[in-house]
Amino acid sequence: MRTLVTGGAGFIGSHLCERLLADGNEVICLDNFYTGRRTHIRHLLDHRDFEVVRHDVIQPILLEVDRVFHFACPASPVHYQYNPVKTVKTNVMGTINMLGLAKRVKARLLHASTSEVYGDPQVHPQHEEYWGHVNPIGPRSCYDEGKRVAETLCFDYHRQNGVDIRVIRIFNTYGPRMIADDGRVVSNFVVRALQGEPLEVYGDGSQTRAFCYIDDLVEGATRMMAQDDAIGPVNLGNPVEFTIRQLAELVLELTGSSSPLVSRPLPPDDPVRRRPDITKARQLLDWEPTVQLEQGLERTIAYFDELLRTA
Ligand code: NAD
Ligand code: UDP
Repeated sequence: MRTLVTGGAGFIGSHLCERLLADGNEVICLDNFYTGRRTHIRHLLDHRDFEVVRHDVIQPILLEVDRVFHFACPASPVHYQYNPVKTVKTNVMGTINMLGLAKRVKARLLHASTSEVYGDPQVHPQHEEYWGHVNPIGPRSCYDEGKRVAETLCFDYHRQNGVDIRVIRIFNTYGPRMIADDGRVVSNFVVRALQGEPLEVYGDGSQTRAFCYIDDLVEGATRMMAQDDAIGPVNLGNPVEFTIRQLAELVLELTGSSSPLVSRPLPPDDPVRRRPDITKARQLLDWEPTVQLEQGLERTIAYFDELLRTA
C-alpha cells in the first residue's frame, strides 16, 4: 500500500510511519513541521520506501496513494491555542483538502479525531453515541470545534461522495517523542521531575484522564484502517482512569525525584473527568491497551532521561 501520513513527523505520526514501514508499506510523511521534528523521522530517511513532503495541509495537494492517515494538527493545548485561527484552518481546510484527495484517488482516509469532541463531558465514561458538552467560544474551541467539524466533513464526504472513511477518537496518548516543552501533562511532569523542578498541578489535581501508551494507540489505529466493517467513530484509549495528582505522585515515585508538587490555577474549560468506553474497539477491532501506566511511564522516563542528558 502507498500510504500518506499527514502530521507524520509529529509524536503519533512518527510512530505510525515506523509501524507502516515495518508492515511493508510505502510511506509518504507530509508535515509542515509546526510541532513535528526532523529528529523524529531521521532514522527513517534512508528507508527506500519512505518519503518526506514539507507541506501545509491548508493548501491542496495531489498525491497518488491508497491510504491516508490524517493526523496533521497540533494536539497540545499550548500549541493549538498559540494560533487558534490556524488551528481551525488546519482542521477545516486541511481536512477538506485531504478528503478531496481521498475522493479523487479513491483512497481510504482515517481521521485522527479526539476525546475533546466530548468537551467537558456530562456522561461518564464517554461512549461514541454521546454528543458531547463543548464550549463553542472558549480557548479550547478552536481545537474541539475544529475536530468536530472535521468529523462532520468526514461523514459528509462519505454520504455525499462515497469516500471510504474511518474515524477514531483518540484519548490522551503519551510516550517517547512527545516534545519536552509542549505543555502536556505527562511530558511536563516527567521532564520537571528529572530536572528536580516543581511539578505544577493545575487546580486541585482531582480532574481525571486515562493515559494510553503510544504503541497501543498505533496498534488500534492500524487495526481500524485495516478492517472493512466499520467506519466509526471508535474510541481508542486506555480505560483506566487516574487523577492528575495520582499521575504526579507516580512520576515522582518512578523517577525517584524529590521535586515538590505546586498548585497552579486550572485553565478555563479544562475537562473534569475523562475516560473512554472502549466496548466498540474491543468488539470491532479485538483491541484493548496492553501497556499499563507504570510500564509506559518507565519507557517515557527513559526516553526523556536520555534526551536531557544528550542535550
Ligand atoms: P503533534 O503535535 O506531535 O503532531 C502533529 C503533527 O502535525 C506535527 O508533526 C505538526 O507539525 C503537524 N501539523 C500541524 N499542523 C499542520 C498543518 N497545517 N499541515 C501539515 N502538518 C501539520 O501531536 P500528536 O500528539 O502526534 O497528535 C497527532 C494527531 O492525533 C492530531 O490530529 C491530534 O489532534 C490527534 N490526537 C492526539 C492525542 C494525543 O493524546 N496525543 C489525543 C487526541 C487526538
Ligand atoms: N495539567 C497539569 N499540569 C501540567 C499540565 C497539565 O496539572 O503541567 C493538567 C491539565 O490541567 C489537565 C490534565 O493535566 O487537567 C491533562 O492536560 P493535557 O494538556 O496533557 O491534556 P488535555 O487537557 O488536553 O487532556
